[in-house]
Amino acid sequence: MSERKQFRAIKGTRDILPPDSALWNWFEHSAHEVFESYNFGEIRLPVFESTELFARSVGTETDIVSKEMFTFSLSQGFKNDRQTHDESEPGELVSLRPEATASVCRAYIEHNMQALPGNQKLYYIGTMFRRERPQKGRYRQFYQIGAEVLGQSDAPAIDAEVLEMLLVFFNRVGLTRTTLYVNSIGDKTCRPQYVELLREELRKVKDKLKEDSLRRIETNPLRVLDSKIPEEQPIIETLPRISDHLCDDCRAHFAKLKEELNLRRIEYKENWRLVRGLDYYTRTTFEVTAEGLGSQNAVCGGGRYDGLVELLGGPPTKGIGFAIGTDRSILSIEESGNVPKLGGLAVYIAWMGQASYPTAVNIARKLRAAGLSIELPPEEMKFKKALGLADKLGARYAVIIGEDEVASGTFTLKRLADGDQKKLAEGELLEYLESERRR
Ligand code: ATP
Ligand code: MG
Repeated sequence: MSERKQFRAIKGTRDILPPDSALWNWFEHSAHEVFESYNFGEIRLPVFESTELFARSVGTETDIVSKEMFTFSLSQGFKNDRQTHDESEPGELVSLRPEATASVCRAYIEHNMQALPGNQKLYYIGTMFRRERPQKGRYRQFYQIGAEVLGQSDAPAIDAEVLEMLLVFFNRVGLTRTTLYVNSIGDKTCRPQYVELLREELRKVKDKLKEDSLRRIETNPLRVLDSKIPEEQPIIETLPRISDHLCDDCRAHFAKLKEELNLRRIEYKENWRLVRGLDYYTRTTFEVTAEGLGSQNAVCGGGRYDGLVELLGGPPTKGIGFAIGTDRSILSIEESGNVPKLGGLAVYIAWMGQASYPTAVNIARKLRAAGLSIELPPEEMKFKKALGLADKLGARYAVIIGEDEVASGTFTLKRLADGDQKKLAEGELLEYLESERRR
């Protein structure tokens, strides 16, 4: 016999299995609830888009676009299928999305959303793809939950509300050992001058910088501030800071944001080096770090991107948003031991004898309709074996249905934790288990 290949998930991707998936569902469900309480609506987006969209918005010099995207040609694979082929430009390149803000802006423009009343407050939940070196908290397919506000206003109260919503969400899911860092990186009036100044200062200390930073002096000097290389830290500390070079409007915007954060009793730390890896940010930038994650400790990044919609061919539009890394958030919740007790199997139906089978099927349906999680064994089993399995599956109760029960029209309810047992009529059983569910 030939040896068969054992397939494994591709490096950097993974399966999320039960019961962990219940934690993921709860996490995402909490986001739906919290975000909707702030009047955000969900947007569902394609998983791949034109490569050009990401190149233009995220920026060709960023790590994401220059080396991390999974890109393929749309026409490949359709060689014999002229009709499908005709739809797209021959050879058009598309990429699996590395982030979703670009898609949200593309959709905003495509659906003429600036014509809708008020600001557009949108959120998304889904997978992103980046060709990175896989390690703890860093995957090639990972999950994000993000929110964006697009519209005509750039009021600092919007930034503050977005941050409030983010922290209310983190609080709701027990992600509390976090730190919020904020910064302002200026706008098109003041940033170019600052970047030039930074570049000049960096050129003076060239010989003390490593390869990546050296390259960034020319391509993207702001990113040097991101450097984690220990030897570069003392040099970076001496560089000019953007906070000393903001124009009046940006300075006022940042001051007002901090006022708004205080009003909402949001704790934050200022971090002048927080520039973020994407090109499209202006003014407010922020990041949230959490404990228990080692060096991959950022669980959320975001900021303002006032020119992005226009850059993508849309009308002048202000924007702000964030993206939460679900993988890391859940890791941090797990490491903190703050994992909630979620659902699980409520009742195992232990039936024996063909005569009791119809009763078992019936009561299972009724209990399920009452919102309980029920396991109904598909084949007959001895009571001892059935109860042993119920225990192993972590069921809270067993409902026992045998000859006696069928004859007397009752059910035996056994609490598995302590073996406590009682006989109940159908109505009593339903009522009892329903009230248990609510506890
Ligand atoms: P990092 O500096 O850790 O690489 P980033 O700046 O690339 O993060 P963003 O683009 O701001 O990350 O994405 C927002 C969040 O998405 C991050 O804070 C992180 O929690 C999560 N994230 C980003 N890349 C990955 C990845 N490869 N695997 C898992 N989570 C990720
Ligand atoms: Mg990254």
